[in-house]
Amino acid sequence: MPVLPKDIIYLDNNATTPVAPEVVDVMIPFLRDFWGNPSSAYSFGSQVHAYVEKARDQVAALIGADPKEIFFTSCGTESDNSAINSALEVTGKKKIVTTAVEHSALINQCEKLQKKGIEVVFMPVRPDGTLDFKEVEKAVDEDTAICSVMWANNETGVIYPVEEIAEFCKLKGVLFHTDAVQAVGKIPINLKKNKIDMLSIVGHKLHAPKGVGALYIRRRTRYSPTIIGGQQERGKRGGTENVASIVGFGKACELAGQRMDEENTRVKAMRDRLEKAILEKIPDVFVNGDRKHRLPNTVNFAFDFIEAEAILLMLDKTGICASSGSACTTGSLDPSHVLKAMGLTPARARGAVRISLSTYNTDRDIDKLIEALPPIIKRLRAMSPLSREHRDNDSYDVAAARAKFEEEQVKEAKKELTSA
Ligand SMILES: *Cc1c(COP(=O)(O)O)cnc(C)c1O
Repeated sequence: MPVLPKDIIYLDNNATTPVAPEVVDVMIPFLRDFWGNPSSAYSFGSQVHAYVEKARDQVAALIGADPKEIFFTSCGTESDNSAINSALEVTGKKKIVTTAVEHSALINQCEKLQKKGIEVVFMPVRPDGTLDFKEVEKAVDEDTAICSVMWANNETGVIYPVEEIAEFCKLKGVLFHTDAVQAVGKIPINLKKNKIDMLSIVGHKLHAPKGVGALYIRRRTRYSPTIIGGQQERGKRGGTENVASIVGFGKACELAGQRMDEENTRVKAMRDRLEKAILEKIPDVFVNGDRKHRLPNTVNFAFDFIEAEAILLMLDKTGICASSGSACTTGSLDPSHVLKAMGLTPARARGAVRISLSTYNTDRDIDKLIEALPPIIKRLRAMSPLSREHRDNDSYDVAAARAKFEEEQVKEAKKELTSA
């Protein structure tokens, strides 16, 4: 077990994960003793190279790739950005097809490219967060440089049919990339059995340290690097290798392969128990996203009539770490772009809380949350005038109250806009 600060219950594993102790152990020699540069000619440096290659084998094995198809990067964001940049450059085409629910790594890059004259189609999703395949058929054409669809969503856990989309893109002669940062290690991935051209992974979402990731590039895919420098990573990614982290990343991938079954049994059972208990114990709560096609570790709740920020602060006081969806929206009043794309009203989206588990969570953690959450929700709702009405009045019309609440929120937002 990784050592967590005392009294902390960590339920935000889609944001980052504790580093596995086995990972720390394999990294230490490369920080303390074997700090040579793997590109050096003398053996003190070059001996390190073999360990980078072992890590490459371990990463490749987890996703059914050839080690020659794995290129180490600094993070998931770099992997995503590099895949898109390369496609625009090698095809010379000026159109990107992606979804409205991608991670900000992709959304913000695409918005910037849009300003530079690249056409970007952000395919809409259904209210349950899933993608209608017809959107892909409509958007992807011969002018498309690349189609990029995430394997699983970081906020809702919804899983997308990327293998089918890759198949379709192949027929159209269009490159296909997937941000698989949340999927790798949680659900089986075998790149030998599909037509995905490029795939992004990051270490810190699967119990490796931060600052190391990889881009899978299928053999014979044309590629143009974003980080240009020395001949590291066979010329596809310049910069001296982050050796210790790469070695740790390799070990984490090996562990993830061994623990995949547990993820889909024990971790999933904990998530399901939590979900059932919260839906039973708390009124006016909804689960965001399709509950069938979903990662085994994630649940995203919408608590009506309250702000998620308030819930998170109160959970924090009891030592529970959870999130309102995306680290990138925390601190701003904007509701999540993912929940907005699913058609949630801003008011409901602002009441969204994401719980994401890992192999290091225990039943005790789940018990604590089930115990802590109902009184917090009750207290916060008691402060909300609408909920008070709800509580004291048997003939209370929930639908009408919700409509009124949302109307008020919209009015408020408009006021903010006009005063800005
Ligand atoms: C975390 C995450 C990223 C970004 O990874 P960084 O290491 O923060 O760059 C990209 N995509 C998804 C789906 C993620 O969850």
